[in-house]
Amino acid sequence: MEKSVKIQLSFHPVDTEKPLVHTFAARFGLMFSILQADISPDKGGRLVLDLSGEESAIEKALQYAAGQGVDVRVLSRVVHWDDKVCVHCGSCTAVCRSRALSLSPDTAMLSFDNARCVVCEMCVKACPTGALTVELSR
Ligand code: SF4
Ligand code: SF4
Repeated sequence: MEKSVKIQLSFHPVDTEKPLVHTFAARFGLMFSILQADISPDKGGRLVLDLSGEESAIEKALQYAAGQGVDVRVLSRVVHWDDKVCVHCGSCTAVCRSRALSLSPDTAMLSFDNARCVVCEMCVKACPTGALTVELSR
């Protein structure tokens, strides 16, 4: 069964040169998008990926990553935006580093691109009306 998951990979500095993402594609046949990258060889860091492919291949790829010493976290929660509660003040856009939330330059209305969201929850804290909440994904 085809599936798509968001995952976060946290690397120690010594592991940053491992070609993990390439292996996800070449060995496990997965498609990926890099949603966020904050990583350097001297400090380590993290990658947030959207992975899609066969469910069994995703599981094998994540087991492979964990076996390589990389911390793997499946981002099973999703952000929900309630456009009926939103007042389009833009506070959330100031803290959204992935640019999942943005105000239209033409209409000054908020839009939410869930595919870019890395579930950091910064916007939930920044929203004065409670229009942004975190839910478990299905
Ligand atoms: S949780 Fe909010 S601030 Fe964080 S990436 Fe998603 S939309 Fe942006
Ligand atoms: S901070 Fe809340 S009310 Fe303001 S634009 Fe963002 S979602 Fe809407």
